[in-house]
Amino acid sequence: MQKRRVVILGSTGSIGTSALKVARDIPDRMEIVGLAAGTSVEALARQAREFNVRSVCIFDSSAADELACALPGAQVETGEEGLCRLAQLSEADMVLISIVGTAGLKPALAAIEAGKDLAIASKEILVMAGQIVMEKARRAGVQVLPVDSEHNAIFQCLNGEHKDQLKKILRTASGGPEAVSRLILTASGGPFRTWNREDLEHVTLEQALKHPTWSMGRKITIDSATLFNKGLEMIEARWLFDVPMEKVDVIVHPQSIVHSMVEYRDGTVLAQMSSSDMCFPIQYAVTWPDRVPNSLKQLNFAEIGRLVFEAPRTDVFPALDLARRAGNGNSTLAAVYNAANEAAVNAFIHGQISFPGIWKLVEAVMDDHTPADPRGELAPILEADQWARRRAAELLPSFSRPC
Ligand code: NDP
Repeated sequence: MQKRRVVILGSTGSIGTSALKVARDIPDRMEIVGLAAGTSVEALARQAREFNVRSVCIFDSSAADELACALPGAQVETGEEGLCRLAQLSEADMVLISIVGTAGLKPALAAIEAGKDLAIASKEILVMAGQIVMEKARRAGVQVLPVDSEHNAIFQCLNGEHKDQLKKILRTASGGPEAVSRLILTASGGPFRTWNREDLEHVTLEQALKHPTWSMGRKITIDSATLFNKGLEMIEARWLFDVPMEKVDVIVHPQSIVHSMVEYRDGTVLAQMSSSDMCFPIQYAVTWPDRVPNSLKQLNFAEIGRLVFEAPRTDVFPALDLARRAGNGNSTLAAVYNAANEAAVNAFIHGQISFPGIWKLVEAVMDDHTPADPRGELAPILEADQWARRRAAELLPSFSRPC
């Protein structure tokens, strides 16, 4: 039984704290050797003390002295360079990337360079630069283990079917696993699943932050309400499992019990289920390919009674169609989709645009972009990301909420 020595980047967030819960639950399989956060000094110091971690990073350099005082003798890093150094820590064999947004991209590439396996929660990284991350991981011979519950579910459904060939199946260069006809991502549908267009105009931040089944960070909770989260996941799945966008489908499943499914060419569908707790996929990513007992809540099928599925309302929530457009082929449009959404969510949080203003702004930015093939280079992707943020800021006034 292998014990994984894990660095967590984004340890104070929703995924990070769930990962530490897993570490408490299975201490003989998971040891924490490095921790990083953005600005939360106190929480980070508390975590480091509890897990006896000597290497920490706080992105905000102005907080470094305070962290060093709170953790005498610890190695304190700051900024992006600090995150990269932590990702390459010699005593680590896995890096969990759970930083919100794309700030984890360079640390993820640094981890691959140093031969560390990656557990990726930050879907934005794969949306932006999935081809580059997966190609570098393949060349370096490191595993990329999905933490997002849907992708972890698909990973499990593929693993069960193809234990011996898993690497080949996940890394085939020619259009993905042939035996698979569809990857079916489940979506809770968010809090406004049944709302009409008019009512969506009046959605408040407080309403958007109330997810019906999952407890998560702010950005992903709003993305779940707009269905942009599912759009990002479609593109994430395309790169993680090396399949074309047309093989990635979405079905709404409001109970969040089936986390996703794989349909094989003979019509058989494998589904993965558990109660909605991110500790399940985090644990599987850490202990893969082993399954180990834990203290998490088991499913009670008699209590559940029946499982409900329905088609997504793409006419009201256009995020999925926009994702299909952005994720097709290999173009900078995926980075634009992601960056424009980040800017639009931020504008919604600050009361500058309405809830439907999020997808209207993203679509307008995408319409203005001339997509290019990045040809395996990071620079055009980063440029597209920056361009999209600038363009979103320029277009923002025309989508502003009336005072
Ligand atoms: P949170 O907002 O709860 O947490 C974000 C974490 O990232 C915090 O620890 C934060 O630190 C840290 N952070 C932010 N900026 C930086 C930075 N520049 N450098 C270092 N650390 C930084 O987010 P979630 O945990 O909800 O989500 C994290 C990622 O996981 C997202 O990409 C999300 O899409 C994905 N994900 C989340 C799921 C969930 O259930 N929450 C499910 C599936 C995927 P600080 O506390 O100091 O701000």
